[in-house]
Amino acid sequence: MAAKSYDMIVIGAGPGGYVAAIRGAQLGLKVAIVEREHMGGICLNWGCIPTKALLRSSEIFHQMHRAKEFGLSVENIGFDLKAIIDRSRGVAKQMAGGISHLMKKNKIDVVMGAATLPAKGKVSVKTAKGVEELTSKNIILATGARARELPGLEADGDLVWTYKHALNPVRMPKKLLVIGSGAIGIEFASFYNTMGADTTVVEVMDRVLPVEDKDISAFAKKSFVKQGMKIMEKAMVKKLDRAKDKVTAHIEVGGKVEKHDFDTVISAVGIVGNCEDLGLEKLGVEIDRTHVVTDQYCRTKVDGLFAIGDIAGAPWLAHKASHEGVMVAELIAGKHPHPVKPESIAGCTYCHPQVASVGYSEAKAKELGHTVKVGKFPFMGNGKAVAMGEAEGMVKTVFDAKTGELLGAHMVGAEVTEMIQGFVVARGLETTEEDLMNTVFPHPTMSEMMHESVLAAYERALHI
Ligand SMILES: Cc1cc2nc3c(=O)[nH]c(=O)nc-3n(C[C@H](O)[C@H](O)[C@H](O)COP(=O)(O)OP(=O)(O)OC[C@H]3O[C@@H](n4cnc5c(N)ncnc54)[C@H](O)[C@@H]3O)c2cc1C
Repeated sequence: MAAKSYDMIVIGAGPGGYVAAIRGAQLGLKVAIVEREHMGGICLNWGCIPTKALLRSSEIFHQMHRAKEFGLSVENIGFDLKAIIDRSRGVAKQMAGGISHLMKKNKIDVVMGAATLPAKGKVSVKTAKGVEELTSKNIILATGARARELPGLEADGDLVWTYKHALNPVRMPKKLLVIGSGAIGIEFASFYNTMGADTTVVEVMDRVLPVEDKDISAFAKKSFVKQGMKIMEKAMVKKLDRAKDKVTAHIEVGGKVEKHDFDTVISAVGIVGNCEDLGLEKLGVEIDRTHVVTDQYCRTKVDGLFAIGDIAGAPWLAHKASHEGVMVAELIAGKHPHPVKPESIAGCTYCHPQVASVGYSEAKAKELGHTVKVGKFPFMGNGKAVAMGEAEGMVKTVFDAKTGELLGAHMVGAEVTEMIQGFVVARGLETTEEDLMNTVFPHPTMSEMMHESVLAAYERALHI
């Protein structure tokens, strides 16, 4: 069969790939998308969406225990883990199913199978019916990433889990070890801890959520510990001894090795890019530690070959992948899009309490040579937060003292993952402290704390 020709071929139907395909189709390009496993990628099937469904269950469970505080009574509080997981899988299925509909609506050809690139401009797809050949001058790699596995700490699905096992567990852990306190590790720690697992988190860096501002990490840690989590920082799991129904973890901390027993371990030590078996090396694509090297427009060293999303490196976030997808589709269609600025991409962690940030931490801003003005505002000073029973949290803003540029915003507490977007827009518009101070925030809202934090940076806070 002759090779089918397209204006643009996308490999991988995660939030990077499927969004690129839609934008390309909107701009009149003839587009094909190749997917080997599931429409929607990790994000919809095994990442962002099913984790948020689980965390919603644990949040409601947590609130049920607080019923009395609100003048309510609830008896026999309990849960059915299978029903929680079924709901999460159902949400994932529903959202992933919607992607196939979007492809059809936008007249995008979907080819189910594993793609390789035998030569420049050529894509070969191993489908259930045989090999299909496709050609295009423009190919976008959006093959994503998978869990990193460290030697000796490999997942077995029974005692040691990756995020996939943790999203579809064989049992409710009683004594849980989570290795790694990035967003993925902390979200699972938060879920299982709230549901009653005796949870220990081991972090090799000097603090939990190590990419966040130090004040935010410290605040979150205090709250996790209050909820019963054990946190071991500057600690490293050296070895796991697996028995029939327990794991003994050898954890190096403070120069000594301690042994602790667990019935379940979740390994959340990062991700590796899906860059192998595609034929990239032969084409001359540069790869650095499993990620494809690109310029700011996601162009690889090979003409007409782009890489977006997790395969193209940090930050490993769905919205970064999607935005790069839109940018590359526009570039291919002859438009002049702006490159994506990684420092203006917000990161959100949906643990309890939530964490959200954009831009530079105070330490990073100083390291970059800025003289800073810093404002902090506690949730306790906000009427809406107190009325909601969510008085635990803080908002911190970092400004350049000379120019008033908003360098970074950092939050911990209820609903901060929804609020951070206000500061993302502010940064995108290159807003200064003056504009933010002159903005009228509605009352009573939690967003008023964003305003107060800006005011606090200039010694003008009203409610502290
Ligand atoms: C547990 C967990 C929770 C997360 N939570 C969040 C969150 O709350 N917010 C957030 O922004 N991010 C979150 N992420 C990260 C987010 O899921 C990723 O950043 C995002 O999915 C990356 O999108 P992508 O399109 O680059 O790749 P992916 O979503 O990984 O999609 C890549 C697709 O390519 C396909 N593919 C790979 N190789 C081939 C091939 N050779 N041929 C054909 N198809 C191929 C794969 O099957 C896959 O469907 C989370 C991740 C995990 C694991």
